[in-house]
Amino acid sequence: MRKKIVAGNWKMNKTLSEAQQLASEVVNMVKDEVNSDVQVVLCPPFISLYAVGKLIESQSNISLGAQNCYHKASGAFTGEVSVDMLKSVGASYVIIGHSERRQYFNETNAQLAEKVNLLLAAQLQPIFCCGESLEQREKGIHFDFVRQQLTESLFHLDTSQIQKIVIAYEPIWAIGTGKTATSAQAQEMHAMLRKHLAGKYGEQMADNISILYGGSANPGNARELFACPDVDGGLIGGASLKSRDFTDIIKSF
Ligand code: PGA
Repeated sequence: MRKKIVAGNWKMNKTLSEAQQLASEVVNMVKDEVNSDVQVVLCPPFISLYAVGKLIESQSNISLGAQNCYHKASGAFTGEVSVDMLKSVGASYVIIGHSERRQYFNETNAQLAEKVNLLLAAQLQPIFCCGESLEQREKGIHFDFVRQQLTESLFHLDTSQIQKIVIAYEPIWAIGTGKTATSAQAQEMHAMLRKHLAGKYGEQMADNISILYGGSANPGNARELFACPDVDGGLIGGASLKSRDFTDIIKSF
C-alpha cells in the first residue's frame, strides 16, 4: 500500500514569525480534524525549518520538508544549503527539481541525480518534481518529456532506492495559474509514470511509489483529483499558505 501524502510548498513566502503562526494553525487543525492516514509535509523556507520542526514535533502525521538542497555534499559553495544541514534541523523530505528551480536556476536532470544520491545516502526522502510546459503538451511530446526527466534523474537507482522516492507531477502550465489539470489529465500522466517505473523496476515496486499531483490544487478540486486511482496526494503551493484551505485539502481524501 502506498502512502497518501499532502505536502505544502510555501515557496519564498512567510517570515519566521509568520511561518510559526501558519505551522501552529496547521498543527491544531490537523490534530482536531484529520483522522485519515494522510502524511502531511510542511516545506517552509530554509530559515524557518528548525522553528517549524519544533512546532510539529508532537504530531506524528506531520513531517518537515525543505524546498531544495545543493547537489554537492559540502564545501566552498557560498549561500547554499547541504543535505546534512537539512537533516540536522529535522527535515525528512526534500523537494527537488521543482519547475521554478529548473527554469530560474537552470537545474538539470544530471544535477538532480546527484541530489537524489545525496538525499538517499542521508536517509532523507526526495519529492522529485517533473512536468511539462504548455508548449510541450500542445506539441504532444509531454509524455516523452516527463519520462525522460525520470529516466535521467532516477533510473540509475536500484530497487531498494527507488522505493524511497516520492514523485510529484506538476504540469508547468498549471502552477500558480489557477488552471488545474483535469482529473483525467492527471490520471493519464500518473498512470503513464507508474507504467514507466514498472517497466524498469517491476509492477509491484511501481505500485508502492506515491505520485502526487501539483498545480493549482485547492479545496474545490482536491477531492476529484485525489479520487483518481494513480493520484496519491498533492504538492500544494498557493493554497498551502492558508491553514483552512490546506487542511480542507488534506481532508479531501
Ligand atoms: P500552486 O503551486 O499550488 O500554487 O499551483 C504548486 C507548486 O508549485 O508546488
